[in-house]
Amino acid sequence: MVSRVIPVDTFDLVIFGATGDLATRKILPALYRRDLAGQLPEGARITGAARTEFTDDTWPAEVRSVLDETLPADQRDTVALDRFLGRLGYVPIDVRGEAGWPELAARMRADVVQAYYFSVGPSLFGDLAQRLHVHGMNTAECRIVVEKPFGHDLETARALNATLAAHFDEHQIYRIDHYLGKETVQNLMAIRFGNMLFEPLWNAQYVDHIQITVAETVGVAGRGGYYDKSGAMRDMVQNHMMQLLCLIAMEPPYAFEPDAVRDEKLKVIRALDPVQPADIVRGQYAAGNGHASYLDDAENPASRTESFIALKAHVSSWRWKGTPFYLRTGKRMRARTSEIAITFKDPPHSIFGAQEGQKSNVLAIRLQPNEGIKLKVTIKEPGPGGMRLVEVPLDMSFAEALGTSDRDIADAYERLIMDVIRGNQTLFMRGDEVEAAWAWTDPIIAAWESREEVPQSYDPGSSGPEDALMLMHRDGRRWREVKP
Ligand code: NAD
Repeated sequence: MVSRVIPVDTFDLVIFGATGDLATRKILPALYRRDLAGQLPEGARITGAARTEFTDDTWPAEVRSVLDETLPADQRDTVALDRFLGRLGYVPIDVRGEAGWPELAARMRADVVQAYYFSVGPSLFGDLAQRLHVHGMNTAECRIVVEKPFGHDLETARALNATLAAHFDEHQIYRIDHYLGKETVQNLMAIRFGNMLFEPLWNAQYVDHIQITVAETVGVAGRGGYYDKSGAMRDMVQNHMMQLLCLIAMEPPYAFEPDAVRDEKLKVIRALDPVQPADIVRGQYAAGNGHASYLDDAENPASRTESFIALKAHVSSWRWKGTPFYLRTGKRMRARTSEIAITFKDPPHSIFGAQEGQKSNVLAIRLQPNEGIKLKVTIKEPGPGGMRLVEVPLDMSFAEALGTSDRDIADAYERLIMDVIRGNQTLFMRGDEVEAAWAWTDPIIAAWESREEVPQSYDPGSSGPEDALMLMHRDGRRWREVKP
């Protein structure tokens, strides 16, 4: 199945922080791939802005060498690459200084979509917003794109929202959570709201529990300083996992439109109960398998920051009362995998007697690697051996179902940046959602900080601390295996 590519409107996109890691690894390759796919119109222009003294000639040459090195062979196309590099320009700017701004302003065309990507640290957002305003670039329809971390707690998130709101309306602010740009995450909504099959069962009466796992094999070496001030709760749970939980738990929005979807997500966050200390397990990876420990990677022997967290959350609503949501994320775990699993209840009575093969139905939605959706159902084992039951997956890996390779599935950044140009905020977080998420997270963090709680040690390459297993065992449940 070949997807149709509809070019977006002509745009001027400015990437502040164009020489940084995010711009180089994610934003520019994503834009190139959209160009390769034919989605960028002829007049689309991309301007890099950062402190490095590149020019309109030297920056594209730099981008060429990066793309030459990093693009897989099947994405290399000399004509497309030349076309893409031809769109690039560069203005050296120190966000906190005055130089370069008039030149950048003069380059912006009034009759095309204008977007500004804030690919710099959040401490610069205020200066950026202010300078765009002073130089007349915050036109009524321009857009700004901001990255996580969106605040460190409720207070800082509020301050950040206020800083941006001083010069931009909410409809102009695109807070990126790249998890929302993943194909499977949107398919979660398609599966729920585009079919009759699941929605009647999508509630506490039929769903036993939900598991969300985001496991990484990497540690924090190289960015330990940053991570140590954050930890798994702030880095993963408050944003990415919260967003996934919302999409699972939300009521059907009246339309697939930005505020309709975001209103429903907000209700879920507000319905989350406070989490009890007994329902949280925090961990730090120990040394092993040739890797340093968290404490060494973070270069802070006294660190109490968690590199792993598992918790049980409850959504107090008619739909979900009594169905727990188990969330688990960590570094240096057994495999790199992100998955949502909805485990349905057992049939009320087994007419086949107690049988080994009869298991609960599980709908597993895999975000990475190998995006896809699997539904486990019980069937009769084939053959003449009597009525023996066996569990089989109904598998909808995108590669097979849609005839596309993993690589053809647009990267989250490709989709989200095109949504910015299209002016569609559905997959971006609204300011009140972010604040509500912090309002839930803050007391949890404050509680363990006041107890001066030390995270439990876990072996690298494991599924986290023993107590995380117990969190589910004591409820008579078990985590799904962390496997690639
Ligand atoms: P980075 O340090 O690699 O790059 C920062 C960029 O900002 C560089 O181009 C630098 O020249 C520029 N810069 C810094 N100070 C400046 C100033 N005063 N004026 C103009 N330009 C200035 O950082 P990064 O990893 O690319 O991250 C950028 C933002 O994206 C951060 O907010 C980060 O938290 C967020 N983010 C990054 C990633 C990632 O994978 N790198 C993922 C999620 C979010």
